[in-house]
Amino acid sequence: MKYKNIGKDNFLDEIGKLKIYANNELLQEALHFASSAHETQKRKSGEAYIIHPVNVAYILAEMKLDSITIASALLHDVLEDTNITSQDLKNKFGAEITELVNGVTKIESFRYRAKETDKQAENFRKLLISITKDIRVILIKLADRLHNMRTLEYMTDKQKQRIARETIDIYAPLANRFGIAKIKWELEDLSFKYLFPDEYKKLVKQVSIKKDERDLMIQNAVSQIKLILKNNDISGTVTGRSKHFYSIFHKNKRKNISYEDILDLAAVRIIVDSVSDCYKVLGVIQTEFIPLEKSRKDYITRPKPNNYRSLHLVAENAEGQRFEFQIRTKEMHLIAEEGIAAHWRYKGQETKAQIHEEFEKQLFRIRNFLNDQKDSETFIDSLKMNLHPDIIVVLSPQNDYIKLRKHSSPIDYAFKVHTDVGFHCKGAFVNGKLVPLRSRLYSGDVVQILTSPQAKPSKDWVNFLSSPKARQKIRSYFKKLELQEFIDTGKELFFKRARKIHLKAKTDEDIAEIARNFKISDVRSFFAALGKNEITFDDIKEVLKEKEFIEAPKIIQDELELKRKKTDGIIIEDIRDILLRYAKCCNPVPGDEIIGYITRGKGITIHKTNCTNTGFFNQIKKEPERKINVRWNYKDEK
Ligand code: MN
Repeated sequence: MKYKNIGKDNFLDEIGKLKIYANNELLQEALHFASSAHETQKRKSGEAYIIHPVNVAYILAEMKLDSITIASALLHDVLEDTNITSQDLKNKFGAEITELVNGVTKIESFRYRAKETDKQAENFRKLLISITKDIRVILIKLADRLHNMRTLEYMTDKQKQRIARETIDIYAPLANRFGIAKIKWELEDLSFKYLFPDEYKKLVKQVSIKKDERDLMIQNAVSQIKLILKNNDISGTVTGRSKHFYSIFHKNKRKNISYEDILDLAAVRIIVDSVSDCYKVLGVIQTEFIPLEKSRKDYITRPKPNNYRSLHLVAENAEGQRFEFQIRTKEMHLIAEEGIAAHWRYKGQETKAQIHEEFEKQLFRIRNFLNDQKDSETFIDSLKMNLHPDIIVVLSPQNDYIKLRKHSSPIDYAFKVHTDVGFHCKGAFVNGKLVPLRSRLYSGDVVQILTSPQAKPSKDWVNFLSSPKARQKIRSYFKKLELQEFIDTGKELFFKRARKIHLKAKTDEDIAEIARNFKISDVRSFFAALGKNEITFDDIKEVLKEKEFIEAPKIIQDELELKRKKTDGIIIEDIRDILLRYAKCCNPVPGDEIIGYITRGKGITIHKTNCTNTGFFNQIKKEPERKINVRWNYKDEK
């Protein structure tokens, strides 16, 4: 991979060649200041240290960023590596540059530790963005990482692995998120080279085989498309595009397509003036080539989350050679290659409305990425260049990255870790210091929670917790506590009153049956309803009577007995003198049609045949042998 290595002495000349709007006086001063600050330092390669900030600044100049950003890049390591203070910088270069350099220095202080989960990498990316007040800090950091990756060969193997892993997990996705394809691809290819050296060598070798053949094929396709554009009166540029190593590797791993097959698919990019030309070109290609089914992707109508827009199509020519076409306008191409950085290209110049609009859209998407949900409409207005997300990311003592809402407290953190930790937290260490549970957390804080089995939540936590989930947990915790109190009250009342009326229903099953009469499905809710006075014991008494759970009043019982005495009892088929009793649900008396029901241990119960007690009828259906035919034994029958 080739790149331009700029020296301290030709820096300003090279910047001049880029023909960008640059404040040369400022850049000269920053270069001079940084050179003397780093004077005694050397890079691992043995070169003077200043070579690093100079090249980082040049990368940003190539992206046509403003002079403030380029100057900040020249100065980006002075706070970290020399005895220059923030105040020194402010006196010399003012607040804006100092803020940017401080921002980059702050990012340096967090070291990513590779974990298994993608979620952790994403939270780390969010941490970096959430401590960043100006997007340009991220751009400087990306350029810094790019130069470090370009010069990684001087590091130890262990450092190479760690830095390459961090780059592929954190910085390449960040570049992608900000839509800067140029940097993303280079970061990925460099990381790939160090993370998978064997695969990398294999792929490089594969690429070199048949390279001339492939190049010729692409050249022919490019000429053919150029002719098509000319014949259709469309102006545009056509280029053969080489694929990036990492994307080939990734495709091979993900889709299990061989390197050879991926390489045989030649890529052609067509850049035209207008959106209607994009579709015109697509139309012509679809007639002159043979499109592959389902290969057409319209990212103009439906842009990718990072605002990438283009038309894609895979098609074959008459010889069966396959091409991957990308069709887009100049603006789309600029956004695709430079993303958010494109915004600063026009800073200090005439506003290019379209770029600006794209930029606003992109900020909108970044905001959504940070917050996961939509908030106030005014966010974009207040944001502009200032990333001000509503989230913070803090660290656990194990270096896990935990995402929280802004204004979160250690209790929010505790609930995020685990509900039990939340319910039993009694104190917190933040950055090694014991703090009140209600203090405010900031991005980058290291938080440790102290728990105790005896610790209990307090009801007013609801008022200052930031997490709606945690608030909900507190609410339902106290609701449950309250419910238990009602249940206890209801239960006590039920049994106290029940004793007085000689209640027979004692088991949960009995009570559940009573509850069902109030359309309540379980015993706990039944007691709770009683405790809350939603039903009264008098209501229950009515039901108890109907259900045969309490003794019928004595007088009625005596009357019944009197009537029954008029007979000699019951004839049960041919057996006499068997233990029997009269059912209290239907109270049969002579003259009623009756049946007998064998009750275990209690002999036979006599019911009316039209008894409404469904319970024993159901039982009879299941065990017909418990039914027994009976009739009254009238005295005059003797
Ligand atoms: Mn650096």
